[in-house]
Amino acid sequence: MSSTTKRDYYEVLGVGRDADKEALKKAYRKLALEFHPDRNQGNPEAEERFKEATEAYEVLSDPRKREAYDRFGHQGVEGGFGGGFNTEAFQDFSDIFGGFGDFGDFFEGLFGGGGRRSRGGANRGEDLRYDLELTLEEIGQETEKTIEIPRHESCESCSGSGCAPGTSPTACTQCGGVGQVRFSQGFFSITRPCPRCGGRGQMIDTPCVGCTGSGRVLKRKKLSVKIPVGADTGLRLKVSGEGEKGIQGGPSGDLYIFIVIRPHELFQRDGDDIVCDVPISFVQAALGAEIEVPNLFGKARMKIPAGTQTHKMFRLRGKGLPNLRSRTPGDQYVRVMVETPTKLNARQRELLEEFAKESGEQHHPIAQGFFDKVKEIIGG
Ligand SMILES: [Zn+2]
Ligand SMILES: [Zn+2]
Repeated sequence: MSSTTKRDYYEVLGVGRDADKEALKKAYRKLALEFHPDRNQGNPEAEERFKEATEAYEVLSDPRKREAYDRFGHQGVEGGFGGGFNTEAFQDFSDIFGGFGDFGDFFEGLFGGGGRRSRGGANRGEDLRYDLELTLEEIGQETEKTIEIPRHESCESCSGSGCAPGTSPTACTQCGGVGQVRFSQGFFSITRPCPRCGGRGQMIDTPCVGCTGSGRVLKRKKLSVKIPVGADTGLRLKVSGEGEKGIQGGPSGDLYIFIVIRPHELFQRDGDDIVCDVPISFVQAALGAEIEVPNLFGKARMKIPAGTQTHKMFRLRGKGLPNLRSRTPGDQYVRVMVETPTKLNARQRELLEEFAKESGEQHHPIAQGFFDKVKEIIGG
């Protein structure tokens, strides 16, 4: 999207230039619901509209950006937007939203504002990321995984105070526990954070050994996580409030679990379908056979008809992976690979030579078609 072809943000949202915050939010929400990629799969135009609306809302809902836009148009906000839409952020929202979330959560995360910024001394804990590797078998059925995340927790030996047992913080002698000091110069008096205690008003004389006075220690927290059936690499799960603990009573951050599907030694994934190569002998291919094939949760028996060619695909209906949203299972495809024997003994060689003599006028449909084409194109 180049800036010359960009539509006016007010026009995009279908609101007047005097629209207030509520009106903007309402307009955006309506468009987002209509054009969200999850509801318009395979429709690039809807995705474009969704991005366009999100960008317009992101600018107009920010008073500072809105003012710049009103005065200078798209150029006024280009810098803040990096010249285009932040597709990465979009992907993030879309993942959380698509996999689980409800719209409420989504809008909170996008525009809620409050939670993410620090207020006074209280700071929100940091978000944490955890990459969770899963097998195809694990996402093929309801699975619960226990994960261990390293994160800072309140120190138990000092209950988070940072002081050694039996001691407590003492009021800072320089500011008398106020945390601020006043400098007077002539008629003026200026208040500054106390340099001795850094504005906390308290000093820890004997720090707790467990946390060296910080009040927090790094622990390994065990969490049980429900894995959505049919999840694929790139899916992101948000676990609210399981990130780092907040500082001085601030809210905890969130934990984001990034799903990575481990490659399987037997199966390749193709959306909800799985593909498996199964070797058969040329005798089985020629005469037909009943073979056993592996699937995600065990084995299945399958008939190979006489005269099967190599690389032929057979479908085992419903033996694939459940779809993430509908839960309808995909299919398993079995691709048979006809294998040529390598070490023949004298008797086998003799039989095959016999077979070859017998095969003079044998019907080989693929060869027939191939040589007909050669004759037609190259001549001979
Ligand atoms: Zn002080
Ligand atoms: Zn401690």
